[in-house]
Amino acid sequence: MQRVYLDNAATTQVLPEVVEAMLPYYTTCYGNPSGFHSFSREAHKGLDAARRTVASCLNAADPSEITFTGGGSEGDNMILRGAAKANRKKGKHIITTAIEHHAILHTLAAMEAEGVAEVTYLPVDAYGRVTPEQVKAAIRPDTVLVSVMFANNEVGTIEPIAEIGAVCREAGVLFHTDAVQAVGHVPVDVQAMHIDLLTLTAHKFHGPKGAGAIYVRKGVRLPALIQGGAQENKRRAGTENIPGIVGLARALEIQTERLAKNAEKMTALREKLIRGIFERIPDVTLNGHRTERLPNNVNFCLRYIESESVLLWLDLNGIAASSGSACTSGSLDPSHVLLAMGISHEAANGSLRLTLSELTTEAEIDYVLETLPPIVQRLRDMSPIYPKGA
Ligand SMILES: *Cc1c(COP(=O)(O)O)cnc(C)c1O
Repeated sequence: MQRVYLDNAATTQVLPEVVEAMLPYYTTCYGNPSGFHSFSREAHKGLDAARRTVASCLNAADPSEITFTGGGSEGDNMILRGAAKANRKKGKHIITTAIEHHAILHTLAAMEAEGVAEVTYLPVDAYGRVTPEQVKAAIRPDTVLVSVMFANNEVGTIEPIAEIGAVCREAGVLFHTDAVQAVGHVPVDVQAMHIDLLTLTAHKFHGPKGAGAIYVRKGVRLPALIQGGAQENKRRAGTENIPGIVGLARALEIQTERLAKNAEKMTALREKLIRGIFERIPDVTLNGHRTERLPNNVNFCLRYIESESVLLWLDLNGIAASSGSACTSGSLDPSHVLLAMGISHEAANGSLRLTLSELTTEAEIDYVLETLPPIVQRLRDMSPIYPKGA
């Protein structure tokens, strides 16, 4: 059976070139970078080179602004908790949006429960966008951090990050962006966009899982979340995951090189998929912004049916898709992102996310356009809420 992977917002395939770059750090240069021998020096060289590469891909002013982590969730936790702790004297007010990833929302909820944060959740419009004006109006004298995601993982909407960054810089408030879905997919420039803190993770851009990084602008204080040794400028203790870090840097280097070409290719396939679904399936709505959108994201609400059944039937036909974020699938709660965009519970229950990668082919899109419509029709025919004969 043909297998089509369209769940690239959940994770991506590690490219062979990336695996190849990682292998020597498992088999030959496997030293602990903190040691005093040639094995350690080789590992340290790999670590330094990776840091320079990541800094350069984000246009960071200095490689020391990059700290490697165990992934996106860790980076988000580290930044929220670290920024709150370092700025306790100023206050504990944090501004974020209603559509953030759970790595942000659950961490902030925990911090509120602990009494170390007071959070304003900005609402979004029907396309999932917040405005710089909303951010500006929410800033108070005791605001210590603004955290707005670069691009949403469910609906692919891209936020006006440079403009929000400018508002925060002018107000003297730290600005963090969870750029996990954006890095390697759309241009990210920490200096031009006035970003103070940023989170990324390798497995969302064809790198390995369990390897991430944060950008911390020079001069921004960010205490460690994990304590122990003096690794990563004392910001993140623990022996560095050198193969993972080397893989992260290689994957980011490749995706940065191919960014424009990949975006063009994926946007064309995305538009073909969107057009094809609109042509073949009645009662569908596209979620997210029409143009301010990740090149690889398609997200629909299929009325009168449940995503779970669609996903099951797609899987039986070899198509891997999702109903939203991997963290919420498996639970029957409708997506907090779709609800925040004003979509009804009923419609949100029938959401379908198809996310492409540079490996996606036109033949695969054709296969989805052939396979999905009859599945939807069959499920609607069985649905008690489907207006029959309409
Ligand atoms: C995937 C994702 C994360 C979590 O990253 P992990 O490396 O899986 O911990 C955080 N934020 C966003 C927007 C994501 O898409």
